[in-house]
Amino acid sequence: FFISFEGIDGSGKSTQARLLAEHLRAKGREVVLTREPGGSPGAEEIRALVLQGDPDRWSARTEILLFTAARRDHLERTIQPALDAGKVVICDRFADSTRMYQGLSRGDLRGIVDDLHRLMIGIEPDLTILIDMDPGEGLSRALSRNGVEERFEDFGEELQQAMRKGFLDLAAEFPARFVTIDGARAVEAVAADVARIVDDRIAG
Ligand code: C5P
Repeated sequence: FFISFEGIDGSGKSTQARLLAEHLRAKGREVVLTREPGGSPGAEEIRALVLQGDPDRWSARTEILLFTAARRDHLERTIQPALDAGKVVICDRFADSTRMYQGLSRGDLRGIVDDLHRLMIGIEPDLTILIDMDPGEGLSRALSRNGVEERFEDFGEELQQAMRKGFLDLAAEFPARFVTIDGARAVEAVAADVARIVDDRIAG
């Protein structure tokens, strides 16, 4: 069973991914908790290439290729073997992030992202949990936290607004696999919703 978490920066999705992994492990499931960009040694190297240093180093199209290459490696080395072994895979961001960040933020490149996805990746999560949150709140959470990636620190609120809307539009586009959760609540309340939804889906 393959679960992805999506949302804007500061939405709390990484925390929720970790709490869900703990919840499922406590119930005896084997869980692989992973993230994108990254999640395999090669993909982590690509993450460093893309997320650190000069944001203009790569063109928008080259960046899509790099993210797709990272995802291909992550899929081959980490995700697919875990799914084949019957484990639950929880991924902090997956292709929907590329549809948004690379497909939307530097012009309309969604078609290229989707074409490459079809050619090189092919699979979608069984369940995608969108942690929805007001960008103002998300941004202040992201900035107040250590470990915000350098190049994205100055992501303005306007772009975050566009990303929030983009994610909500994606959820409407793929209603069968998306569940949207209000992230502007206590961590435990959000985690309880996530656990309930996942338990239902896995059982069903
Ligand atoms: O989810 P995480 O905080 O690790 O993401 C790191 C940064 O990379 C975020 O600020 C996000 O905006 C950016 N990112 C991106 N394109 C992706 C995935 C993440 O620009 N496909």
